[in-house]
Amino acid sequence: MKLSIIGGGPAGLYFASSIKTLIPNANVTVYEARNESVNSFGLGYTLQSLNTALLERLDKNYFKGLFPNGETPSISQALFKTNNDSRTFDFSDGFSVTRFELMRYLNQKAQSLGVKIKEQKMTASHLKKLQKSSDLLVGADGINSIVRRHFASKLIPNVYTAKLKFSWFMNETPQIRKEACFYTFQAPEGVIIMTSYPLTENKQVVIIEMTNKCAASGKFKGKSPKEAIPYLNEILSSNGDNISLTPANLPWYSFKMNTTKNVFYKNATLVGDAAMSFHYSAGQGLTSAFMMGYTLANCLHKNQDVEVALQHYQQSLQLMFEKPSSSSLAHIKWFESIDDHIQETSEADWLEHFRLKDKFQHETPSFIHANNASVVSAPNLL
Ligand SMILES: Cc1cc2nc3c(=O)[nH]c(=O)nc-3n(C[C@H](O)[C@H](O)[C@H](O)COP(=O)(O)OP(=O)(O)OC[C@H]3O[C@@H](n4cnc5c(N)ncnc54)[C@H](O)[C@@H]3O)c2cc1C
Repeated sequence: MKLSIIGGGPAGLYFASSIKTLIPNANVTVYEARNESVNSFGLGYTLQSLNTALLERLDKNYFKGLFPNGETPSISQALFKTNNDSRTFDFSDGFSVTRFELMRYLNQKAQSLGVKIKEQKMTASHLKKLQKSSDLLVGADGINSIVRRHFASKLIPNVYTAKLKFSWFMNETPQIRKEACFYTFQAPEGVIIMTSYPLTENKQVVIIEMTNKCAASGKFKGKSPKEAIPYLNEILSSNGDNISLTPANLPWYSFKMNTTKNVFYKNATLVGDAAMSFHYSAGQGLTSAFMMGYTLANCLHKNQDVEVALQHYQQSLQLMFEKPSSSSLAHIKWFESIDDHIQETSEADWLEHFRLKDKFQHETPSFIHANNASVVSAPNLL
């Protein structure tokens, strides 16, 4: 069986290794443009239990392979902050890995199993030739997939571009938080959302996000992420932190959420962000990249006929990703209206509302239930 994979990111390499584990004599080639954090979105990842269970399926010693020189910060707590509030919660245990470390490990793993990796940026004309000469062509080329674009009339992709702007930064102050941090600060321009996690012992990766309207007004107007740093530091340090962002030299991005009606056409299919992408707040990126890679390999292992295997793959994805997909879209919509949410919520409730988002319910004082609700329904009683 000859397989050609476009894109050597987490999804492409995990799938390549999975298929070589299940079908050792498969002839597998990965074509990777060049691993750059910019086109692959992300300077690092937090890995939680499902990711590590999936890594363990391929390699019991994955931790040593990922971190041959020792440790990486583990994350066991989540710190939530608002302008006037701060609370710590348990975080489902995890640890950080840089994109570079993860890709070095997955590349080595794939090569040790006999996967060929070629450094080449593929174009539409390459795709036509590869589709003809391969039993299966797999698009694992990320959020702006050329494979998805090439087969668009059959796959019927749908892209939702969030009305939000985000970018990455580093924080390297002496006060490095060991927690995963989720901050939301109200500025005159609108609400600033910060998500961060420790990447090394003395470095935090920071993602800043805000609505398009906020990014285009006041002190943010016309500013690149780098130019916005002094103002962001001022806002983010206003409740007890000492945040000093350093630029990652990336622009402002608008997150694109991909879905596709059909995940395959003839002998071509998609895995990872090329097939479906999830807003990072849904914590789904690597998990889905690995799950899709594993599921596709399994379907091919169980069904000799590629088209039947791909039908099973499509059905599995529909079952697995219906919920995460709608939850990612709900999160995006919630963030797009964050300025309204903060206006509608009391200061005391805002941190919980931000933490639980669309699941948030005001605590209703017990006397309201005890009495006739219609008598005490004035909102200012809550
Ligand atoms: C702000 C933000 C924060 C995130 N944080 C996390 C996190 O903490 N944890 C998590 O699990 N996920 C996170 N994600 C999601 C995660 O980054 C992606 O889901 C994951 O990288 C998807 O893997 P992939 O292999 O599908 O795509 P990618 O990582 O994008 O890899 C695609 C690969 O294809 C290559 N390629 C592209 N075009 C071509 C071409 N024409 N020819 C050859 N090669 C090509 C690229 O160079 C790249 O290496 C985050 C995403 C965002 C936007």
